[in-house]
Amino acid sequence: MNVVSIMAHQDDEMRCLGTMLKCRARGDRLHFITLTDGSKGFVQNPTISREEAARIRDTEMRSLAGAVDAGFINLGEPDEFLYDTPEVRMGLIEAIRRTGADLVFTHYGDDYNLDHTTVHSLVRHCAMQACLPVLPTETAPLPTHPAIFTIDPHGPFLFPVTHYVDMSAHHDEKIRLLLHHASQEEALRLGNGTGLAEMTQRLDAYRGEQAGVAWAEAFAPMRSRGAIKPFAVLP
Ligand SMILES: [Zn+2]
Repeated sequence: MNVVSIMAHQDDEMRCLGTMLKCRARGDRLHFITLTDGSKGFVQNPTISREEAARIRDTEMRSLAGAVDAGFINLGEPDEFLYDTPEVRMGLIEAIRRTGADLVFTHYGDDYNLDHTTVHSLVRHCAMQACLPVLPTETAPLPTHPAIFTIDPHGPFLFPVTHYVDMSAHHDEKIRLLLHHASQEEALRLGNGTGLAEMTQRLDAYRGEQAGVAWAEAFAPMRSRGAIKPFAVLP
């Protein structure tokens, strides 16, 4: 199975990475797609050029992906200014086709960041369009619509969890991998007072407590035709 994280920014995979590692352990291939260049994620250096910031974020995500033999496609749109345009849709349709997506993780429809909610609606639309031969791109259309699960949003939004994944066996590796985002570790410590590890552990422990395990990630299916499957896809 091809398992794909489609997120706005490099590090947004923090809400599904443990589950992806569990997928990898059962033999799945992993892919990461990011829509923006992440160039506004530098609280520690607000005057950094867009090009330099984007280069750092791309390198960090590429090294995380490389550590788990995953593919990485960066659509490189301007961070914090992601818009739904014909070009972005066609770029995402091609990226989804290139991964051969069977199972997709993406943002929930309510979130603190509009790049996140824009990605949610783009994925809903483009995953369906990735199956349609009337929209040709370099890669052939997908044979079937991928299953899509949304991730815990950032902030106090009502998130209707239906699925928990016990990823306790992969939690240490998840934290180690997230630290590839060294620039974001620094930015979060300065901006929020906590780094990636603590930020992730709090939620994973809370979701684990709800599910009766040490560490868990929580999901809700995207409620659109084709995205919900009548069989289990999560590990
Ligand atoms: Zn983000």
